[in-house]
Amino acid sequence: MKPIHDGWIRNFVDGEFVEPDSRRGFDQIDPSTGRIVARVHEADRPLVDRAVTAARRALDRGWADTPVRERTALLRRVADRIEERFDEFVAAEISDTGKPLTQARELDVTRAIVNFRTFADIVAAAGQESFLTDLAGGRQALNYAVRKPLGVVAVIVPWNLPLLLLTWKVAPALACGNAIVVKPSEETPSTATLLAEVLAEAGLPAGAYNVVHGFGADSAGEYLTTHPGIDGVTFTGSSATGAHVMKTVAPRVRPVSFELGGKNAAIVFDDVNIDEAVTGLAKSIFTNTGQVCLCTERVYVQRAIFDDIAAGLAERAESLRLGDPNDPNTTTGPLISQGHRDKILGYLRLAEESGAKVLTGGGIPELGPDLDGGSWIEPTLWTGLTNTDRVLREEIFGPVAALVPFDTEDEAIALANDTEYGLASAVWTNDLRRGHRVAQKMHVGISWVNTWFTRELRSPFGGMGLSGIGREGGESSLHFYSEPTNICVQL
Ligand code: NAD
Repeated sequence: MKPIHDGWIRNFVDGEFVEPDSRRGFDQIDPSTGRIVARVHEADRPLVDRAVTAARRALDRGWADTPVRERTALLRRVADRIEERFDEFVAAEISDTGKPLTQARELDVTRAIVNFRTFADIVAAAGQESFLTDLAGGRQALNYAVRKPLGVVAVIVPWNLPLLLLTWKVAPALACGNAIVVKPSEETPSTATLLAEVLAEAGLPAGAYNVVHGFGADSAGEYLTTHPGIDGVTFTGSSATGAHVMKTVAPRVRPVSFELGGKNAAIVFDDVNIDEAVTGLAKSIFTNTGQVCLCTERVYVQRAIFDDIAAGLAERAESLRLGDPNDPNTTTGPLISQGHRDKILGYLRLAEESGAKVLTGGGIPELGPDLDGGSWIEPTLWTGLTNTDRVLREEIFGPVAALVPFDTEDEAIALANDTEYGLASAVWTNDLRRGHRVAQKMHVGISWVNTWFTRELRSPFGGMGLSGIGREGGESSLHFYSEPTNICVQL
């Protein structure tokens, strides 16, 4: 059985693609055209139960005890196999999201491959600390810890960077010997399904990777997080859903790792090279049509250069090329769905009601009959708003940003930190000391200086406040995906 054929995207349970039940399906829509491209088989509760049971069985049958070198070799084969099927993954990613070909190639699928190779390296190199403890009478005890897999891990991921964010969790989870049940976003089911085939081909035992499709409430997401057989949840998505999932797993005291929303700020000091700063800021606002949790939605600009930055950014926004995702000249795709566009149109109206001046954008572009059914929106910039406006307080998750002037460094820091979120920030300055100083004062998980989205996978990643709980990446991923047992031996 193929993962995606006969127009169906299938669940993958216990090493096999499940024959779809025609009574339980939902449409997979290409957001660039609005056309239905496939049906997705929605997993019911018994199927999710089968997936969790299969995962437990995979652990018990020896996956959890596989030598690390075998698991890491498997991850490397997976990376090689995605590379061989690169174009297939790119096509699946584009069909799910409408994102431009160049981005799917250079970012999403490439970074997925890097995720498998990097976590293979990290887990292969990981050691454990040990302590010699002095005891009374001149004796000693040796303390050392051994790592065990967390167990059956529920992996719940969003639609914005579906393959990249999925593999960011799948690679370390499998490297640590866990068995997983993945619930991809209902908007983007394809790449997780293709990955199932690649993992099986690479030799992953049946049950160690399962995919169940569906929605959140009263569907596969909730069936999975409420299942008594899971040992932990790693979740990337909105803060509201994260809060809900936390309540769901609380009665069974399961560990959670939450990568949630953001309302990220950029601070631009008047010592910058305007052109360089505008290039970096434009990338941070418009990449993936603003649908990256790390995207900048609040831009604080020192007053002397406010007009120059505003004019430069408006020019960049207007030079973006919206259009056919498969055209290599397209820079910007659609939003993920009509529902998400409705939400953003609501914020466009709210901004105007709050007295914003629209520097550019503010509506729906006309892209011709082929694309008019898609969920397109114009890249939009506002001035004239303040931190008290909802537009500057709530995550919008689109190609939009508000520009606000400031005078002093302290004021900029206070404005940037005036949020319940705490995911990312970017400081743009040519003053070396100021860059370090301000970056450290940001109340966020990742604080960039003169760059944005530059990632080192060995470093910790996550958010504060509404932006999440815990860190993944490098050793932090090992901490979440494994449990240490300390062994104390009296010598
Ligand atoms: P979402 O919270 O609506 O959905 C995320 C996933 O959770 C989906 O698979 C969804 O089906 C599932 N889900 C929804 N309700 C559920 C429930 N009750 N029980 C179990 N599962 C449930 O988020 P989204 O709209 O898919 O993604 C966008 C959000 O993700 C934004 O807020 C963005 O900032 C955030 N995000 C965060 C990061 C990060 O690393 N911090 C990365 C990417 C996206």
